[in-house]
Amino acid sequence: MPELPEVETVKNYLSEKILNKKVINTKVLNAKLRWPINSKGIRGIKGQTIQKVTRRGKYILLQFNDSILTIVIHLGMTGIVSFKEVGKYKKQKHDHLLLYFDKFLLIYNDVRKFGSIHITKKLSNMFLLKNLGPEPTSASFNIEYLINISSKRKCSVKELIMNQKIVVGIGNIYATEALFLSKIHPGTFANEVTKSQYKKLIKNIQLVLSRAISMGGSTIKDFVNAEGKPGYFSQELLVYQKKYCPIHKKNLISNIKISGRSSFFCNKCQTL
Ligand SMILES: [Zn+2]
Repeated sequence: MPELPEVETVKNYLSEKILNKKVINTKVLNAKLRWPINSKGIRGIKGQTIQKVTRRGKYILLQFNDSILTIVIHLGMTGIVSFKEVGKYKKQKHDHLLLYFDKFLLIYNDVRKFGSIHITKKLSNMFLLKNLGPEPTSASFNIEYLINISSKRKCSVKELIMNQKIVVGIGNIYATEALFLSKIHPGTFANEVTKSQYKKLIKNIQLVLSRAISMGGSTIKDFVNAEGKPGYFSQELLVYQKKYCPIHKKNLISNIKISGRSSFFCNKCQTL
């Protein structure tokens, strides 16, 4: 599943290709995604120019003209955005949406259909976005915020940082890596993590995400980056799906389930 760094990478790639370009035509080939694509709404962007390509959490936002209309894309598990020259496009299985520009077209393909494409006129009130927590790299994701919010929660620290209403864009891989670097056991109750541990955690969340973004996004098996190349840099991960701790070389990495998700940690580095 694409996580924040992959989405950021795709967003940057999209921005390079389509910013300030006019949509000449649209075609919904298969409206069936996690929510059906509003085909009529999509037709409304015909003739409009893309003014902004941004990201909010794991959503890519394409904003048109006076920013009244926005396309909100979520890549789900297997969503891929790619480009083809006009005239060279051949419909592939699982192609859902085509946006035609002057010389090329954008294709949204999604094998497992967990992604979504919405068109909205009121971005700030859009149901998928309005309850999202702060961006992990923003100033509002700070120590006071985490201390305050964790004091009210009865969940593990791993569940806390993976909760999109608390902070967006931290999936299983980066939560696992950041907790390891901060020497915090993933099952620690959120309200028992100390202030100095949270300070380290914020720093390490930002570190693992920015590292991954600079490498073009790491990922798991289904994800292919915008240029159609696999973007997985598993060798750069320290504990996620690893056998041994990189510090305690002979100590096996433990794997427990937290909210049904595999949670890898070293029982010497990360004690309860
Ligand atoms: Zn260790």
